Parts: sequence; structure tokens; C-alpha cells
Amino acid sequence: MNEFLVRRLWLPLHERLRGRETLRHYSDLKASEVWDAPRLEALRLRKLCRLLAHCQTQVPYYRALFAQAGIKDAAASGAQALREFPPLERDTIRSGGDALLAESGHPPRLRANTGGSSGSPLVFQTDLVKEARHNAHKLRARSWFGVLPGQRQVDFWGSPIELSKQSRLRVFKDRYFLNQVLLSAFNLTAQRLDGYVTFLAKYRPRLVYGYPTVIYRVAQHVLERSAGLGRYRPRLVACTSEMLLEHQRETIRQVFDCPVANEYGSRDGGLIAHECPAGQLHIAAEHVWLEVDQPDADGVGDLLVTNLDGYGMPFVRYRLGDRGRLADAPCRCGLPLPVLAELQGRANDMLVGADGRQIHSLAPIYVLREIAQLQQFRLHQRADRSVSVELVLSRPLLAGARQDMVRRLQAVFGELPIELIERDTIPPEKSGKYRWVISDAV
Ligand SMILES: [Zn+2]
Repeated sequence: MNEFLVRRLWLPLHERLRGRETLRHYSDLKASEVWDAPRLEALRLRKLCRLLAHCQTQVPYYRALFAQAGIKDAAASGAQALREFPPLERDTIRSGGDALLAESGHPPRLRANTGGSSGSPLVFQTDLVKEARHNAHKLRARSWFGVLPGQRQVDFWGSPIELSKQSRLRVFKDRYFLNQVLLSAFNLTAQRLDGYVTFLAKYRPRLVYGYPTVIYRVAQHVLERSAGLGRYRPRLVACTSEMLLEHQRETIRQVFDCPVANEYGSRDGGLIAHECPAGQLHIAAEHVWLEVDQPDADGVGDLLVTNLDGYGMPFVRYRLGDRGRLADAPCRCGLPLPVLAELQGRANDMLVGADGRQIHSLAPIYVLREIAQLQQFRLHQRADRSVSVELVLSRPLLAGARQDMVRRLQAVFGELPIELIERDTIPPEKSGKYRWVISDAV
């Protein structure tokens, strides 16, 4: 489909039909990205005060916290009121239930889950405004590289649930009306990788988007096979959901011969930061308020996010599970958005099936997170390809459920020995990297 038509007609129509004003938010963000820093800061403060007032009047959990801290007018206290809050932990969200939801029921909420790659899955509620602004921030960051809304895009993505739900009609609509093609990130056989490389050279997406482990694997495949990408070059490869490691970035850049940028965000926290062409991670400042909890001598600590656009189930000082450091100086690219100087996120390893195929670590994680009482896990694949999964559960698994889980994991891995071990706790690795999937298999 003609990209101009998608941008001007189909994409706005599609978003409007789904109740999202994504393109309007995108225009607003293109305007505020050329403001000076004080004007942007004033907007952020206004948004923060408005959110806190909403939390005080509408959300029982926060109302109780304000009362405990003796704050009568949260909006007037602004950023100072924020510092009175304890960080919001995933366990609090799990146990907090309806106390975290806005009593008015506005905006209408949607159920979502996240945390697949963090080792600590979470079911939560989001809303259409939060989702639309999240998407608008993604679109804005891509525009810094010359990728505009509606231009051809390939996503390497994969939740088995999302993929199975995709009817043929939706695949057709996404491809021919929205210029978006989804390619499964799971089960990367050599044959499938061949097909992907051929498709990229023919479809010529301007944006390639997805997990760095998978795009790196595609890039390696191009290097290994004589059939390359021809004269095709994207404008941008954007990586998300996992740490983008330096060797991955180099290989991807070499093969695709275009800028490679890191996107940092999650459905619960929002779009948090995105790299600019100068290589700095800019915070999506109109959308999130980012803090570092108890920074060490180098300024590094746990990242806490307050999503300024999420009113259905507000996330205030939410502990993301990643560590980082805020920069003191602005970026030389001229954007007024503050910079996240360092990000220590999650590193995931690729897993290997019984028949030798590569399996993205999210494939078993999507199976595991369907255990209702799952609080935390760590999956380890040994050199002999056997798999052990440590689980922290709020109540033990019944024998039938345990067998069922092993059977479903074997559907992912093939006939490999799989062991489930229940634990009271799994200590996080404070070395910086949160590795909940560890693979020694090749
Ligand atoms: Zn910059």
C-alpha cells in the first residue's frame, strides 16, 4: 500500500476505530521535541501534579499513602509528594487488586500481562490513552531516523498466543492497509531464516523491529549464506525487550548497513527511552517520570518509573527491575529530552531444541507464565540441553498441573529432560544483569 495513503488515511482511521488518538499524540510530540528544556520541564510537572491529584481522589491505594504521609493536596506538593511514596513493587500490584484501579472506571481499562523476560510475570490493567501515547512515542523516536508513520515495517515478534489469535484477515489488514508484517521470533530453523532473508529483500521494509537476539540471528544467517539482502537497506533497525549487546549491534549494523537503535520500554511502565541518531538514550519525558532509587557512588540504582499518561491503573514509582543512571548533561543532538546515561537491563540467551533448532527464550516463558501462582522463575539449559526450571510459587503445583507443565515445555523444546524445582526465593544477580534464562547449550 502506498505509504502516504497509510499515513494519512488508513493508519489514523485504524487507530480511531480502536479508540486511540495515536497520530494526534504523535503531532503533539513532534511539536514539544523542539521546545527548550525549561518549557518541557514545566509540562512534565503539570502532568505529574494532575496525575497525583487523580491518584489522591480516585485510587484507594494511593489515597491511603497520601493520608499516611499527611499530604492533603497532592497536586500542590508535586514532585515533593512523589518522594514520600514507597516504590511500587510487582508483589504489591499482585496483592493490591482493585485498590490500584481508578474508582470511576475512567478511562476504560484493558487487561494485559508483561514481564516475560524479567523472570517475574505480572497481570495488570492498562488503558487506551496510555497505549496510544506509548505508541506515539515509538513513532516519534523512529522519525528521528527518517522512518515515518505508515511506512513499511517488519516486526520479529512472538507470543504464541498473539500469533495463534491472528486471523488471516488481520494478517491481511496489517500487511496491506498498515504496511506491517509480523514474522515469528520463535523456532528459528535454517529454512525459516532463509525465508525471512528472502522476504526482507523483496518487501524492503524501512524499519526492522524486534528482539536483538533474533535480528542478530537473522544477520548472522545473511553472513553465513551467499543469498544476502541484495541492494536492500532499511533506514533503521530498532531493538527492544532485551539488552542490545555490543557484538549484536556491530553485526546487525554491518549486515543491514543502517543505524541500530535501542528502545527501552514495557507495556506496564510505558515507553521509557529510545536512542537518538547520536547514540544517546533519550527519556520519553512527556510520558514518564524516571527516578533512580538509592543510587550508588556512581549514580547507578534501580529505575523507578511514574507513567504520566496511565490513569486507569496508575503506576507511580514503579520498580522496573532494571538498573541505570541519569545523565547530567544534555545530548549533543539538540533534543531537549533528558538522557539515560546507562542502562543495565536484562540479558537473555537463546535456547536450543532437541533437534538443534534455536528457540527464543520467550517461547518457554509464555508457557510458564500461565501458571496462576507463579511469582518468579529461572530457567537453565545445560550443555547437554537438559532444562531445569526453578519456580517460586504462592502455592504448590498439584501433580496433574506439574505433569501438564512438563508436557507443554516439551512441546517447545522437544523430548528433552525437563525438571521443575520449587524454591522459596531466587536471589537476583546484583552484578547488573538480570538473567532469568541462562543457556549453556549450543
Ligand atoms: Zn540525542
